Amino acid sequence: MMYSVADPYRLDQGDLSFDSPDTVKSAMVRAIAENRTHYLQTAGVPRLRELIADKLRRRNGIPVEDPEEVLVTHGGIHGLYMICRAMLEPGDEVVVPDPEWPPAAGNVLAARGVVVGCPLRETMGWRYDLDELASKITPRTRVLYLNSPHNPTGGVLTREDLERIAAIARERSLWVISDEAYEDVIFDGEHVSIASLPGMYERTIPLYTFSKSYAMTGLRLGYVAIRDAVIRDRAKKILFYTASNVASVVQFGGIGALEGSQDCIATFRDELRARRDLFYRGVRDVAGDTFSGQPPAGAFYAFLKIDPAWSRTRPAPTEGARPERAEASPSWSMVEHLIKHGRIGCVPGADFGPSGEGYVRFCFARDRKELTGALASMKRLFGVPSLPERARC
Ligand code: PLP
Repeated sequence: MMYSVADPYRLDQGDLSFDSPDTVKSAMVRAIAENRTHYLQTAGVPRLRELIADKLRRRNGIPVEDPEEVLVTHGGIHGLYMICRAMLEPGDEVVVPDPEWPPAAGNVLAARGVVVGCPLRETMGWRYDLDELASKITPRTRVLYLNSPHNPTGGVLTREDLERIAAIARERSLWVISDEAYEDVIFDGEHVSIASLPGMYERTIPLYTFSKSYAMTGLRLGYVAIRDAVIRDRAKKILFYTASNVASVVQFGGIGALEGSQDCIATFRDELRARRDLFYRGVRDVAGDTFSGQPPAGAFYAFLKIDPAWSRTRPAPTEGARPERAEASPSWSMVEHLIKHGRIGCVPGADFGPSGEGYVRFCFARDRKELTGALASMKRLFGVPSLPERARC
């Protein structure tokens, strides 16, 4: 649908409008000039693994003993594929949040695992009811997949949540995959890596990406740390068979990111907070009660509930649309309306799991001009006059 409209507002993808910092770009330019264009060690360039191990110890509090524990991947999504293939036997159950970034379930299924959804509760700031989480565990459960800060809802698990989850994992002998792609995008509260809690690194595989922290989405660079030698060896084989090594020049860009100034992280976060506030204020002004939801504590998505009254009176599907899908799903119907009539890119909540039905996800990491353009377009669709002083924000 996005390719069917001219000049869309791209609030659909989880991409930032920021450019990669100069530290990354100049390191890549230097790598090209120095002909660093040959095959590399499968697990990653030694200097990059060393820097990552140091970052995991200092910033995440994870007791990584040796850079050997770090494997460099083709973005976080490839890290997840690699871990699932390395860990899961057919029929192993993995408890995954509902709603959730679709590749989480997709990669479990690709490894012939079984996805067991556990709802996140909007009334609890999109966190788990931990008794409910415990009730999802069966003798076949092998892994709890966590994602905090969370895509698509922006929920952040607290230290207390993670301590209780750690206790459950220890009691039930479970592994944890901790997807911390948005570790640096926190507006309220703190980011805690579950692998930093006592005894948890032994049963946790923490997963990271350079995409969000350093605006390197298209460069494709991620990493995991694995203490367990057997799983690490299996993961290394998957890495070799699927990538041989991650693009050499990009790995040198990663070295530039970690060796250089870290100022971009706070700069991006401050600007994202301003964009979050602008977007939430704007939606309230231009769309009234059509959407509702609290600004998220982390990540950069607005996961908004569609007013059921809108769904009852929604416009008839347009020609060329997919009426069977839109008819059956309020979130598809809303997305179709926003894209076709407002050129506003967004993602139906239903795509993130059954609990996402009735919601729409907008990415507010786009630049302010794109956000205000989308809001002006939304105003034309929903017709709520905005307060002049708010419109200027
Ligand atoms: N994990 C989550 C929850 C994400 O939302 C994303 C990207 O959107 C990733 C991991 C992986 O990002 P990438 O493959 O760009 O490194």
